Amino acid sequence: QAKDNGRAQAMVFSEEMHRKASSRLDLDSQLARALDKDELRVYYQPIVEVSTEDVVGFEALVRWVHPQRGLILPIEFIPVAEETGMIIPIGEWVLRQSLAQAQKWRTEAPGAEDLSISVNLSTLQLQDPDFLGVVEDALTQTGLDPMALHLEITETMVMNDVEAAMGTLHGLRSLGVRLSIDDFGTGYAALSYLSRLPVQTIKIDQSFVKGLGGDDPHASSIVDAIVSLARALDLDVIAEGVESAEQLRELRRIGSRLAQGFLWSRPLAPEEIPEWLGAPSGGRGQRRGL
Ligand code: C2E
Ligand code: MG
Ligand code: MG
Ligand code: MG
Repeated sequence: QAKDNGRAQAMVFSEEMHRKASSRLDLDSQLARALDKDELRVYYQPIVEVSTEDVVGFEALVRWVHPQRGLILPIEFIPVAEETGMIIPIGEWVLRQSLAQAQKWRTEAPGAEDLSISVNLSTLQLQDPDFLGVVEDALTQTGLDPMALHLEITETMVMNDVEAAMGTLHGLRSLGVRLSIDDFGTGYAALSYLSRLPVQTIKIDQSFVKGLGGDDPHASSIVDAIVSLARALDLDVIAEGVESAEQLRELRRIGSRLAQGFLWSRPLAPEEIPEWLGAPSGGRGQRRGL
């Protein structure tokens, strides 16, 4: 009886695995054509100053509008794109798109001349010998001030191949581009590496921000410790995933300079941004987007 049960479960499991594997196969052949078919979109989430709630920049976040499946989030297709290598052309497209968009806002939207644009990178891009040239070309083509561009990397990406990554990061710095560590605290880089990385900003992972203002006093202590570390290393700091007024109050108390989260806005389609920028208090309270 137990044995039969086991066998039945194994069968269910393998059907499920098969279904997943074939949907992944579908995705990777479809993803290869998604760029040409114009199915990818870049959405933009505001980054605000904690003290004033003024918008200081946007993070570019890619989405795939699949003709049958609808909206697909990056957690589902970025890993596929990394496995197949499609992340190289996709990443380049996101970069060029974001830079052009940021330059348009900076030159056309009132009061937007200092906005920054943050773009996520993947390990493969960091290891790609052509990457520096692509960034340089995208800056030249769009005319964007390199200081307005923040590239986001994770600890884990760097640890993969420290020497190669360091070379690219220093190359990016010499172009004038700024670098951020994303999802800080979730990777496995030793603190000794952190001080060697040529980065300017730490983004506190949302898992730490989530507990702020709740019952767990340790949550505040951890965020407080990261903010102190950033200050000691002379780095800027952004708290990610801020959803509530209590979390914002804690961040004010702790002294995180910048924040990002659904409290202000979900990632928005580019056409929604000018209106959002023009709205009172940067559009806060108007919960829209995806
Ligand atoms: P990330 O870079 O850490 O981006 C932040 C993620 O948190 C985004 O998810 C954003 O929509 C979400 N988020 C922002 N505020 C809140 C909040 O208040 N609450 C909650 N629960 N979530 C919030 P998204 O857009 O689904 O992206 C997920 C991840 O996919 C990103 O994490 C990034 O690692 C990756 N990704 C997105 N776009 C790109 C891209 O163009 N290239 C690469 N290589 N990776 C990308
Ligand atoms: Mg990011
Ligand atoms: Mg990330
Ligand atoms: Mg993050």
